[in-house]
Amino acid sequence: MGTPQPVVRDTRAPLNHASTTPVPFLDLKAQYTTIRSEVLHAVERVLESQHFILGKEVQLLESEVAQMVGVPAAVGCASGSDALYLALRALDIGPGDEVITVPFTFVATAGAIARTGAKPVFVDIDPVTYNLDHNLLGAAITDKTRAIIPVHLFGLPADMKPILKIAGERGVTVVEDAAQAIGSTYDGAQIGSLGRFGCFSFFPSKNLGCAGDGGMVTTTDERMGDKLRLLRAHGSREKYSYEILGVNSRLDSLQAAILRVKLPHLKVWERGRRQNAETYRELFANYHLESIVTLPTTPSNCTHVYNQYVIRCPERSKLRLYLRERGFSTEVYYPSPLHLQPAFAYLGYSEGAFPVSEAACREVLALPIYPELTEEVQSSFVRAISQFYQSRV
Ligand SMILES: *Cc1c(COP(=O)(O)O)cnc(C)c1O
Repeated sequence: MGTPQPVVRDTRAPLNHASTTPVPFLDLKAQYTTIRSEVLHAVERVLESQHFILGKEVQLLESEVAQMVGVPAAVGCASGSDALYLALRALDIGPGDEVITVPFTFVATAGAIARTGAKPVFVDIDPVTYNLDHNLLGAAITDKTRAIIPVHLFGLPADMKPILKIAGERGVTVVEDAAQAIGSTYDGAQIGSLGRFGCFSFFPSKNLGCAGDGGMVTTTDERMGDKLRLLRAHGSREKYSYEILGVNSRLDSLQAAILRVKLPHLKVWERGRRQNAETYRELFANYHLESIVTLPTTPSNCTHVYNQYVIRCPERSKLRLYLRERGFSTEVYYPSPLHLQPAFAYLGYSEGAFPVSEAACREVLALPIYPELTEEVQSSFVRAISQFYQSRV
């Protein structure tokens, strides 16, 4: 590679060991500060009511999310992991069944499948979008396949049109893992409204995060709302009467109240993330790094909500260390694909089974992208990346 001539956007001296204020990967406090009084008000309202499980706050949040996503029903639950599990249970998926997903995702996607007793079957990803490669889908479907779980990874929708077409032809249900992608759109439709179920997470680091664990299942199938409600509450409609075997996976009133404060801000935060992504693009171009690192791309029929901003880069681990030593925090989503994890060894996959996922695990690096991130910090971040690659020439 040639010697890049950086066009420096600000004139401050580069950060070094001595002058570094550590740059966090995620600063949740920065966001909390902007909504503190609203949140405290909501928390107090719930504490005064002393109603903590489900209740009015959860019902209101469910209808607000259902309306936003554009589906007839949304059902709150304890986590995004449980949202996936409950959706599969609503389909009566269990032992003897197969469910297809990707190995390049958070463990919960395949974990939810395994928890039902069904077998996770992996399909590799597309190298550009990091999402399920629909060209490989048909060959993975068997007589036992009941569902497909595409993951909208990092906040970018999976290519749903061909996935839904193949699933429809083969009589398989699509369950969206929308944990990282609330608010993103595909062909103008909100994700979570495309498959029969959409599974959302309110884990604090997601774009809409609560003050603990929380999740929600959306469904385009009105009849499924009732079944999901049964499943999340021990299969019980009336006290001490159990229609089906369910679990305890309810959403707390406190979490719902906090989420109702945050939901109206989501669009603005989303815009902030997209603006930061645009700033990164300009900075990487200014430093002539585009031929070295691969930046995220957004297909024209999608919006990306950037729960994570993930670049692909040579010498990833060395770069990460170099940045860490200078106070710049990064993350790796994900360092190892699920088919090579001990917990899924029983599935019998070996190295080389999903080469695109395996390569991604070696090369991806997530940079801070939270809405409150300043251009100044982004600029020093990219400058440090540029310095690393200059030092490697
Ligand atoms: C976060 C996440 C989940 C699980 O959500 P939790 O609320 O943490 O249980 C599932 N799938 C993906 C892709 C995620 O990022």
